[in-house]
Amino acid sequence: MADLSTDVRYIKGIGEKKAQALNKLGVFSLFDLISFFPRRYDDRSICKPIALTMDGEAVCIQCLVADEPRLTRIRRGMDLVKFHIVDDSGSVDITFFNQSYIKNAIHRGESYIFFGKIELKGSRRSMVNPVFEKEDSPHLFTGRIVPVYRLAAGLRQRDVLQGVQQGLDACLDELPEVLPNDVRLEHNLATARYSYQNIHAPADFKALELARRRFVFEELFLLSCAFGQMRGSRIVDDGIPFADIDFSKFYASLPFSPTGAQQRAVREASADLISGKRMNRLLQGDVGSGKTLVAAALIWQAYQSGKMSAFMAPTEILAEQHFQTLQGMLSPFGLRLALLTGSLSAKEKRIVKAGLLRGEIDCVIGTHALLSDDVEYPGTLALVITDEQHRFGVEQRSSLVGKGSKPHVLVMSATPIPRTLALIIYGDLDVSLLDELPPGRQRVDTFCVNSSYRNRLNRFIRKQAEEGRQVFVVCPKVEEAEEGEESSGLLSVTEHAEMLQKTLPDLSVACIHGKMKAKEKDEIMRRVVSGEIHVLVATTVIEVGVDVPNASLMIIENADRFGLSQLHQLRGRVGRGHHKSYCVLVTDLDSEDVAARMKIMTSTTDGFKIAEEDLRLRGPGDFFGSRQHGLPEMHVADLGTDTETLVTCKQAADRLLQADPQLALPEHRLLKERIALMLERSAGSFN
Ligand code: ADP
Ligand code: MG
Repeated sequence: MADLSTDVRYIKGIGEKKAQALNKLGVFSLFDLISFFPRRYDDRSICKPIALTMDGEAVCIQCLVADEPRLTRIRRGMDLVKFHIVDDSGSVDITFFNQSYIKNAIHRGESYIFFGKIELKGSRRSMVNPVFEKEDSPHLFTGRIVPVYRLAAGLRQRDVLQGVQQGLDACLDELPEVLPNDVRLEHNLATARYSYQNIHAPADFKALELARRRFVFEELFLLSCAFGQMRGSRIVDDGIPFADIDFSKFYASLPFSPTGAQQRAVREASADLISGKRMNRLLQGDVGSGKTLVAAALIWQAYQSGKMSAFMAPTEILAEQHFQTLQGMLSPFGLRLALLTGSLSAKEKRIVKAGLLRGEIDCVIGTHALLSDDVEYPGTLALVITDEQHRFGVEQRSSLVGKGSKPHVLVMSATPIPRTLALIIYGDLDVSLLDELPPGRQRVDTFCVNSSYRNRLNRFIRKQAEEGRQVFVVCPKVEEAEEGEESSGLLSVTEHAEMLQKTLPDLSVACIHGKMKAKEKDEIMRRVVSGEIHVLVATTVIEVGVDVPNASLMIIENADRFGLSQLHQLRGRVGRGHHKSYCVLVTDLDSEDVAARMKIMTSTTDGFKIAEEDLRLRGPGDFFGSRQHGLPEMHVADLGTDTETLVTCKQAADRLLQADPQLALPEHRLLKERIALMLERSAGSFN
């Protein structure tokens, strides 16, 4: 007897080969199979008498086959099967091209349902290559709303359709009702049983809509519960109160005056810190808006309050850069800063770790090395800041927070996160916006060209360098050696750097990529910052945060390979100083889709607009790059558009979790299991 955990290979009509094909689609168990929802539906529900069918109409007709099918060979590789079908009201000429088996599959005098497009010439009706099924056999493809599934090689629609049907029949009575009953009733949602049946085999479009509505809710509700649980009950947490301090001394020490937006963000966060409640704040600001300064101010406040801070960045380059920047701003006040990354030697790490334990470090800056089990923090750890937040999984974030005794949390995001996603990922985070760029910034002029511009582009590089500026060139080829790399047609960092160095022999060209040792990268970045290197060819390792105000030209090769938000991040590496800056997107693909994306880049520099377009064009799965966002894949819900449901689901989830934080009640057992499954399946994202 099959149950929901039965392997699909044991389902009648599936077997080993087809099971493998299903596995490729992420379908392993019977439950996966019935959760494998159609990609779209074909409406074949309308059945009409022949006389009422119209020219061009796609309809089902129920008919008798009037004559013996005739096979005609027209020429080599082309044959026809022809016959007539009739009902009480008229007749239709049927033609099948190149399907000679039809001759023996259809029998004169028997009754069938045909589905196809009617062609009406004068009073003669005809149909070409219709779909047909015997009247007295079960109807899969005619006379109903027909589901259309995603397929993999070796799998036909029929296989999936029949498999799903078998699956539903086998476990109709144990279909999981994961939604708590009161939630389901409150929101007028169909039952699981009804919904599974009607998402696969809708009785009509109303039923399909009800089923879909239920699953969208279910998906977003599960997601909300999952994130809600991970965030824990921090909303009501008490926080370590910081001293109320005056920032003017700190501001006065800076080489520039902070923008109004920066001061406001500091005020908002600082108010949290002194409130006695725990801070949970998202600092959103487009690239170059100056988030680091806000972080520095708060670290300074922590120090003035006798507390320690930790600052986590997603890459080593960035951690090192933050270390330098913060060192510059904070060490004049006597703060002791330390850097902790994976590439430090064992001895260096030991020194930092010992320093932490002895309370001799006021702010530790690092990568996720900060999270290692063997890194212990003193009780004074009271402020945790994470930069470029979306690159960390939710678990990582919670794990750093778990290190201290309920530290305050500030997360900084450079990729503007559309509101809906922010709501889900960050839940009840308060938000501060840096909606003002530091003065003197200019719009980065952006162009899109193809590689026939190569020579002009090289001259442009030279011109910038001669004016004392620096140039970034980004190539898409990933650091890790991949199969078939040579034939990818993508520029690689090392080859391209060589080419540029040959073309521009008097300039200093260097390259940087993830395969290099952190020490080497460090050294290169130091030489870039000092102005010694004119042209830096890089992979996307320089995507986030890298700050070289003298850089004025960003060239992105194979620009079609990058998502919009990523292009925006990369473009944000220039235009950070006072110099007129440019971004050139190079692509040889001239598809409509690429053109549309490039158009967005050349026409706006508004990060929010770009992020929303990106989410719309690529869906949340790809939005933050390859599975780095910590969001499981959505099957029916659309995180970009199902905003209202999302808000509703989040409220419902919050209420539920307030009543049963651990989902320990027996009626929540299924919910708990499904959340675990959902997280397990997206586990790859917590890298
Ligand atoms: P973000 O992290 O938000 O992308 P950064 O904190 O790296 O931006 O700041 C970008 C650049 O702007 C840095 O070179 C920084 O020194 C500079 N900057 C920050 N705030 C100001 C300000 N108020 N006035 C002038 N320059 C500023
Ligand atoms: Mg930054």
